[in-house]
Amino acid sequence: MSLAEAGRIAGVSRTTVAGWRRTLPGFPDSAQGSGAGAVFDRGAVVAWLREVGKLTVPAGLPAGMLVVRGVGSRTRTVRLEDPALALAEDAAGEDRLSGWAAPEDAEALAVLVESSVSVGVQRLAVPGARPVAVRGSLRIAGQERPGAGGLWLELAWPAALRGTPARFGGVVEHAVLPPGTSADCCCARHDCGGVTRQPWCPDHGTAAGRVSEDHVEGGLYCTQRAPARGGTVPARG
Ligand SMILES: [Zn+2]
Ligand SMILES: [Zn+2]
Repeated sequence: MSLAEAGRIAGVSRTTVAGWRRTLPGFPDSAQGSGAGAVFDRGAVVAWLREVGKLTVPAGLPAGMLVVRGVGSRTRTVRLEDPALALAEDAAGEDRLSGWAAPEDAEALAVLVESSVSVGVQRLAVPGARPVAVRGSLRIAGQERPGAGGLWLELAWPAALRGTPARFGGVVEHAVLPPGTSADCCCARHDCGGVTRQPWCPDHGTAAGRVSEDHVEGGLYCTQRAPARGGTVPARG
């Protein structure tokens, strides 16, 4: 990035960034060119801006929308600037989401996480990624306040609890029925061997009592079990 772009992220002019570069230690070396045309590594510059406490919420960058749900129906919508979402490929792994939040959103999120047994993600929309919902166990993995006006947050949750959001938010559970259970009913069947229980199904519905919900629709378990059902598990490298 150029010095002008670095200024845009920090909310100041190019001249101001050039001044910081001269007077503050540790500004990254240019990756290409010199003088007014010098280009710098974006990650290195952002890290440096954070280090010297010059970074506020970056304006004009793509934003993500996170809706979390705690005890009862307490929800909070958090806008995340410049979001980065890293999804684990292994069900034993952890997904990570980071970005910049307004301080009041970050504080409300922290209160919700502290006061709830388990916080789930109703819906997470990040540019360039499919929407995601998480059954629970959301935690705040890190946060810092490098400048006024914005708080950098890192959130994490077990990858196994992530799936596709339902129409009105939240996850849909796939129940796995015990062997020998009737498979002839109105519940939707899936390739993973799970069923989406219909509340009115006489065998598995609300009146039938508790059937263990096993995993989240559209999640890692679903996709990993689906080929196994057909006996064609792809070889792992
Ligand atoms: Zn059923
Ligand atoms: Zn499934």
